[in-house]
Amino acid sequence: MLNIIKAYAVKNLCYISAQKMVPKGIVVHSTGANNPYLKRYVDAPENVGVNQYGNHWNMAMPEGRKVCVHAFIGYDKNKQISIAELLPLNICCWGVGRGKKGSYNYNPAYIQFEICEDNLADKKYYDDVFKVAAEYCAELCRKYGIQTENIVSHYEAYHLGYGCNHGDPEYWMKKFGETMGDFRNRVSEILKSNVDRKENREETVVENDIIKKGDLVSIANNATYYNGKAIPSWVKSQRWYVKNTPIGERVVIDMNEMGTNYICSPVHKKFLTVAKKELSNCPYLVKITADCLNIRKDAGMNTAKVGEITDHGVYTIVEENNGAGASLWGKLKSGAGWISLDYVKKLNK
Ligand SMILES: [Zn+2]
Repeated sequence: MLNIIKAYAVKNLCYISAQKMVPKGIVVHSTGANNPYLKRYVDAPENVGVNQYGNHWNMAMPEGRKVCVHAFIGYDKNKQISIAELLPLNICCWGVGRGKKGSYNYNPAYIQFEICEDNLADKKYYDDVFKVAAEYCAELCRKYGIQTENIVSHYEAYHLGYGCNHGDPEYWMKKFGETMGDFRNRVSEILKSNVDRKENREETVVENDIIKKGDLVSIANNATYYNGKAIPSWVKSQRWYVKNTPIGERVVIDMNEMGTNYICSPVHKKFLTVAKKELSNCPYLVKITADCLNIRKDAGMNTAKVGEITDHGVYTIVEENNGAGASLWGKLKSGAGWISLDYVKKLNK
């Protein structure tokens, strides 16, 4: 299980400019400085420890540069390897600069993360940190439908014409006889094992194939719209929420899983498979599993943060809804707001 710390760099100009994106690939960086501790870059003292120098990236311009990446991977405060996300994955980062053809910061927009370097001599740290990086990439590929060939290093981004001239992280990988090709293969292997698991899981869901409003559905490869017109592949490659209670065999799908697209399109139900059922057995109790979980004004990461939960406590959810940034949102009984249900454990009544 990946340990992902949400540590948004809310003071960074990149976070503030919040240019929307749909991820098309991934750029892997390494930091180029001997400091494997997340606290150097990440402002989340409770998870990664205190940065005594205050030179983390939660400031307008770290090191005087307009720079920010989506995530860092390195040691947390317990010297465990963790991932810290500085930006939501649906806004552009400033990571790779610009090459002669353009920039993977914007178009096409890539998710970008930095692996914290040490002195580049410790094989164990290298193995551990790249293992987590590969698992993270696999998770992102699965979630956003990214092809493994669209995972590139900063070095490759430069040679493809979409980044400035840097050599990371190849100069590090080379010391241990590895290449980005090896890294991509490793991600593919993880994805293969995930696919097996996913198919098993979905088979059990399909038994109950009545499609309801709010269900998350995937689309068959040979599907057409209800009127017989072709469905573009970017639509078929994603999962969508059912907008209204279906009438007969006509099912209207609208918002995608990430909450970045709304298509409001009718599809015949025979082409749809329920990936996740809308639940409606509220109220129920949950135990918070995240160290720090934001409370939002509404169901969506794009709505205002109105508080946070840091006590790992038990809370009552009185309503559920779909929204950006989480597979499902739950409304707190207290009326304080909504939380992502990805970071809770449902308790039996
Ligand atoms: Zn780089």
